[in-house]
Amino acid sequence: MICARCGKEAKNFYENLCFDCYVERMKNIEINLRVCKKCNRYYVGTKGFDEREKAIDYYLRKFVSKRISLEIDKIPKEKLDIYEKEFICENCKERYSRKVEAVLQLRGEEKLVEEVFRRYLFLGRKVISGYDIDFSSKEELRNLIREIKRKYFVEIKITRKLVGIKDGKRKYKDTVLLKLYGKR
Ligand SMILES: [Zn+2]
Ligand SMILES: [Zn+2]
Repeated sequence: MICARCGKEAKNFYENLCFDCYVERMKNIEINLRVCKKCNRYYVGTKGFDEREKAIDYYLRKFVSKRISLEIDKIPKEKLDIYEKEFICENCKERYSRKVEAVLQLRGEEKLVEEVFRRYLFLGRKVISGYDIDFSSKEELRNLIREIKRKYFVEIKITRKLVGIKDGKRKYKDTVLLKLYGKR
């Protein structure tokens, strides 16, 4: 068999054309991915992928494979026009909208910070100078601080931020900076 365009002999044909001719005449394929700003995962529709390559592959199989004669893994990379759009995925939206009434910023001597974190908290974000921990109740945070103060010398600074009004009352989010500088 010979190619209808270039006349070369070939084993595999794609709409009467050899591979090279088919690819040459093929229009670029547009791929639209969404990337979550929070978790950096790639999304095709509602399906999420950790790796960009996997998302592209899924997109090709789902939306492109039926309209081209080439197998998905034979499409040359330069034939793909990949567009990425930022958004926030449902998972992250849910996680970030969870009620946070107060944030504890644990700072100070590294050894003490680690000790307190392990003893009382366990869950939080590691930041350069210590840990940031979210609390859904200010009461819970107050009790914890009382306990820490019994065993450590601390310096506390509270910042209040107005976050809204509920039932005519102003709602504040507290950020409590707790600096540890010694044991009692
Ligand atoms: Zn050809
Ligand atoms: Zn996300």
